[in-house]
Amino acid sequence: MNRLNTPIQFIKGVGPKRAKLLRKINIETVKDLLYYFPRAYDDRRKTDKIINVRNGEKANLKVIVVGSPSIVKPKKSLSIVKVPVRDETGLAFLIWFNQEYIKKQFKIGEVLKVSGKVKRVFNEIQIQNPIFEREGENEKIGKIVPIYPLTKNLKNGDMVKLVRNVLDEYLYYIEDIMPEYIKEKYNLCSIYTAISNIHFPKDRYSYIEAKRRLVFEELFILQLGLRLIRNKYVENSQGIRFLQVNEIDELISSLPFELTNAQKRVYKEICLDMESNRPMNRLVQGDVGSGKTIIAVLAMFKAVKSGYQAVMMAPTEILATQHYENVSNLLERFGIKVSLLVGSMSSKKKKEILDKIREGTIDIVIGTHALIQKNVKFHKLGLAITDEQHRFGVRQRAILSQKGLNPDVLVMTATPIPRTLALILYGDLDISIIDELPPGRKKVKTYVVNSSMKKRVYDFIKREINKGRQAYIVCPLIEESDTLDLQSAIKLYEELKNNIFKNLRLGLLHGKLSATEKDVIMAKFKNREIDILVSTTVIEVGVNIPNANIMVIENAERFGLSQLHQLRGRVGRGEHQSYCILINESRSKISIERMKIMEKSNNGFEISEKDLEIRGPGEFFGTKQHGLPDLKIANLFTDIKMLKIAQKEVFQLLKEDPFLELPKHSSLKQKIYEIFEEKLNDISLN
Ligand code: ADP
Ligand code: MG
Repeated sequence: MNRLNTPIQFIKGVGPKRAKLLRKINIETVKDLLYYFPRAYDDRRKTDKIINVRNGEKANLKVIVVGSPSIVKPKKSLSIVKVPVRDETGLAFLIWFNQEYIKKQFKIGEVLKVSGKVKRVFNEIQIQNPIFEREGENEKIGKIVPIYPLTKNLKNGDMVKLVRNVLDEYLYYIEDIMPEYIKEKYNLCSIYTAISNIHFPKDRYSYIEAKRRLVFEELFILQLGLRLIRNKYVENSQGIRFLQVNEIDELISSLPFELTNAQKRVYKEICLDMESNRPMNRLVQGDVGSGKTIIAVLAMFKAVKSGYQAVMMAPTEILATQHYENVSNLLERFGIKVSLLVGSMSSKKKKEILDKIREGTIDIVIGTHALIQKNVKFHKLGLAITDEQHRFGVRQRAILSQKGLNPDVLVMTATPIPRTLALILYGDLDISIIDELPPGRKKVKTYVVNSSMKKRVYDFIKREINKGRQAYIVCPLIEESDTLDLQSAIKLYEELKNNIFKNLRLGLLHGKLSATEKDVIMAKFKNREIDILVSTTVIEVGVNIPNANIMVIENAERFGLSQLHQLRGRVGRGEHQSYCILINESRSKISIERMKIMEKSNNGFEISEKDLEIRGPGEFFGTKQHGLPDLKIANLFTDIKMLKIAQKEVFQLLKEDPFLELPKHSSLKQKIYEIFEEKLNDISLN
């Protein structure tokens, strides 16, 4: 057995009780403990002088006990132990509350190192509940002490002792998996130095070196694992060879526009993937309005004309319906049968469609989550597409593709993230980027206002509607909440309809409407039977109504910038100048800064990068959500430079050794199989 897997209760000083506490913080084995890193450090290296200590601050002192400990009992429930001590500059008292037993531990004349918080009480200098040790002892004071994340009844001092014990005995059982040549290249310290110094750094430098090594290793292993999964998958799975379909030129030339260069490039990348005998696993990233849908349509056309079925999943019924209309318009005249499948359909209708999907009389199905239900079975699924991937989990994407036998997989997202991060979050995918908008798009003019300007905003909307345009007004919640000062969509709608926009036609769209109700409203808006659509964020993704040219967002400060950018992307889709008006009620510096970014930039990549800078990756980049292992020490945002370096090295390494078969990579390989076991085993079953 690997000694690092020794259960923690076998360690001296760990009884069943403590083992239970440790289990609470996920420490089961020696290895867990060694990789349980401090959350902070307390620098107790410096020795202060009593004359200089300050009320309320921590002090580290070297003192001599100058009198017998005394006990004071100001109240029945309170006893105070006082030990007089001094150094060459003054007198102080060590103080403990309700710990009478402690007084036996001191002898007059002995030298102590103490560390604790200073309290000036009357004219006394008190050090309350200090940590102390005798001269010659060298555990707690005079050095940098690690502070561990704890749980109730587990003391930091106990953890420190335990870690030290375990380090002494087990450190050298850790295997240094980093190949020598990489350590040399990046000047990384050994794993022994790193683990030992991350717990007990001698100084700032040794801490930084330890952290650098551990962060590099963590990011490197994560990236390497993801790319190895991809390589294995591509190597091991027999994919479909789709045909070169000449009819597709006919389809392309029948479009009302010419494809942009970026679209052509991405389409070509997809064709190469589809025609090879390896399954495609590709992410298409493109800003809102960059024209991702048509790419999906071309891919589906190719799949169907090669004799397979295709499926496309979207996060909302509105969007699925829109795609359905779009796709059937384009493809039915080529003899392709397209169908919609959404949760709100009657069970009779659903059954009819499910039967046809199973029999293979339907070529393309477009729908929502309804598509990943158990009862959906395909005759011969060849291509699975997920639109707006960021709204789905990794698992859902996987379930969809398991509806076929190694179908090609295409996922599309409009949430632009820097490439470095995309390589981690979508590390097992190849990435195509549509980095160009169709020509002739006018930049959406964006203005940030506060509510005092609302009347002017409303007048402006009226003028535009008189010219024949339409507008969206978005508010964050649908019901009035006591705690949050948010405009309710319903209330706002009533107010606008009955007063300000009395003479106009308003519609209300929110998440609690049934799908049919939503469809009716969207259809009316599309047919220009509604002038102003008041809505919650249900219209956030994908909706395409080119005549609408105004987007007003209430309480804009409550949204993430990428979300604001998505919402803004609902306008600017036609020939008319479009406007986005952000109503910002917050005066905080961060809000104002964020709104400024929206005013200045129309570029989703730039916006998300700036948002990251201001807010940090937060939950959006939660690795868990993306099905990745937890990061113990690296931070995808603050360690982005290191991530880039690690990525570069991973690509170089895999170029030389795509499956980690060289002896110099055998430890790496073992480690990666340990971490990504499940995923890698799944692949080898194929
Ligand atoms: P998104 O990338 O946000 O999904 P869409 O695919 O919905 O964007 O496309 C937005 C709009 O741009 C649609 O009306 C679509 O018909 C149009 N469009 C797509 N490609 C082009 C192009 N090359 N030239 C002009 N318009 C295009
Ligand atoms: Mg789209």
